[in-house]
Amino acid sequence: MAKHIELDLGFTNIQLLKGEKGYVQMDAGYKSNVKKYLRLLKKNNIDPSEIKLIIVNHAHFDHVGGLKTLKEITNAKVLVHENDAEYLRKGISVEPKPISFVVKLLFKLIPKSLKLYDPVEPDIIIKDEYSLDEFGVKAKVIHTPGHTLGTVSLVSEDGVAFIGCCAHGFPLRFNPGLPTVAEDINQIYSSWKRLLKEGVKEVFVSHGKAVSVTKMKKILEKKKS
Ligand SMILES: [Zn+2]
Ligand SMILES: [Zn+2]
Repeated sequence: MAKHIELDLGFTNIQLLKGEKGYVQMDAGYKSNVKKYLRLLKKNNIDPSEIKLIIVNHAHFDHVGGLKTLKEITNAKVLVHENDAEYLRKGISVEPKPISFVVKLLFKLIPKSLKLYDPVEPDIIIKDEYSLDEFGVKAKVIHTPGHTLGTVSLVSEDGVAFIGCCAHGFPLRFNPGLPTVAEDINQIYSSWKRLLKEGVKEVFVSHGKAVSVTKMKKILEKKKS
């Protein structure tokens, strides 16, 4: 299996995949997470210059808040889907729709200023699929919309997947599965189907513990019936 490292920043996890030329990374966390990020890199004996690519799972402040600083520190390229690219360029978060009333209330409590972040000009803008060959990683990034319309996932040749907010794990969701907020919940089901078709085996998410593939299959089956 491809070498995977999870950096637990608190609310948001950052995922790293090791390749021949360095690491590709999913997400950048909050702006205030940068120091912790650097500390965790050091703990894993990784020099910031070894990070060659930062993939934007989607343009929400808890995923891209620290991106501008991390891009400067690492000199990594930034990849984003075309549907979220404009948000990234402007430094604004897509307004997501909470799928439950409680989350809706919690969402209202987040101050507007926190949802803003330093804009970043992306280096790579993708549509449906993008191979990471040039980064020495046997993996690709695929479009998996639903949480936002431009949410993407990384899938390695041997089945390691970083799906960001296509699902949420424990304890963000006591019962791991569907994300707590989504632009289009039906798109999430289609994206899960695509991920399973790609043969994912280990699924890592941006919030909470890894989500089991068996659980994803069960939720899809229940939806069908
Ligand atoms: Zn989000
Ligand atoms: Zn998030």
